[in-house]
Amino acid sequence: MLNDNYISFEIGKAKHIALVAHDGKKKEMVDWCDKNKDVLKSHFLCGTGTTARLISERTGLPVKGYNSGPLGGDQQIGAKIVEGQIDFMVFLWDPLEAQPHDPDVKALLRIAVVYDIPIANNLATADFMLHSKYMNTVYSRQVENFNKTIEERVEKMK
Ligand code: PGA
Repeated sequence: MLNDNYISFEIGKAKHIALVAHDGKKKEMVDWCDKNKDVLKSHFLCGTGTTARLISERTGLPVKGYNSGPLGGDQQIGAKIVEGQIDFMVFLWDPLEAQPHDPDVKALLRIAVVYDIPIANNLATADFMLHSKYMNTVYSRQVENFNKTIEERVEKMK
């Protein structure tokens, strides 16, 4: 714990990794997962529906699939981050293509930052993250102390 403004959450040795790729980035994602499957097999994988299915068909790794991104999958993953059930993300969003669910994409990126989870938005960052020393250790992420925040806000609104 840094101080009572923040709460520490542990990212375990085995990470809970969310994998999300927009259509123009799905091939990159599947190839990257295949290339790194020996590392990824030691972690818990999940992803938006289509991305998850493509990865597990190609690599044989178990990937829990949520709904497809445009149908709410990004929001489901965001909720799991808030609940502490996802603590690492590779999200290959496509900078060259407009998305119908752009607000959901922004929301997911935002909540990942709020919860101090490592998030890669391109392959180079994903490579650096996957080869970080923290992949083999626990790591303490620092999250705003929401209990304190609520108490202070309730006092202020009275
Ligand atoms: P998909 O969703 O994996 O179901 O395609 C990803 C997205 O487009 O957000």
